[in-house]
Amino acid sequence: MADDTLAEEQMTALQVACDTEVSGCLFLMRTEESDKERLLEITRDHVREQHGKDYTLEEIDEQHVNEVEV
Ligand SMILES: [Zn+2]
Repeated sequence: MADDTLAEEQMTALQVACDTEVSGCLFLMRTEESDKERLLEITRDHVREQHGKDYTLEEIDEQHVNEVEV
């Protein structure tokens, strides 16, 4: 989807890096803040499928999501 209507002020994004201690996992994802729900869900699915661990969206949100400047 092409969405080039950038806000002028808000230039932060949300980033999740997979920080389980599994060697070789380079999962990293960055989205806009408005896409947070999707970010959390994709991360949850990744951790479940790749690492066999169940996190709630809330846990991921609180522990693993970082705000980064774009
Ligand atoms: Zn991973």
